[in-house]
Amino acid sequence: MTKIKIATEWLESCAGCHMSLLDIDERILELLKYVEITSSPLTDLKHPPEEGVDVGILSGGIGNSDQEKKAKEMRKKCKILVALGDCAVFGGICNLRNFFPKEEVLNRGFVETESTSKGKIPKSEVLGELTDQVSGVNKVVKVDVYIPGCPPSADSIYYALTELVNGRIPVLEGDLLHYD
Ligand code: SF4
Repeated sequence: MTKIKIATEWLESCAGCHMSLLDIDERILELLKYVEITSSPLTDLKHPPEEGVDVGILSGGIGNSDQEKKAKEMRKKCKILVALGDCAVFGGICNLRNFFPKEEVLNRGFVETESTSKGKIPKSEVLGELTDQVSGVNKVVKVDVYIPGCPPSADSIYYALTELVNGRIPVLEGDLLHYD
């Protein structure tokens, strides 16, 4: 059986969704018989290979231009795109900054913080520019599979991956579908 190729990437996120992926524990050994992880934030190779992958997995929302670029790159290089976790599905906890104008958020973070003296908002070509609002991944690219949860349980992720391995688009139901 040919292994399906998977690449993962995290955008505006904590590492929780990827930690939940690792929480699959020993079942990951069974999965690795059918899956090749080509790149991920947890492995040496960080970027999806040029030739592309079968499944791309994105955790985290879109909060700056760099994340937008990474999401588009993953979409271009994968056949099936999975939004993993609440942040990727609808912005999740990152949406909290949407209550404030971007300038106010930057000022609070880099200038007004109690422990900051002579703070300055960083500006550089190599830094992504903050978007006006945070959004889920589907605001920027087409998503094929949604796995909500903060983070999604290891069981939900394992179920989704085994369905994909078997050539099916996973439909999460019951205990596997939650937003907390
Ligand atoms: S959904 Fe929750 S666990 Fe996943 S990246 Fe967002 S905050 Fe972290």
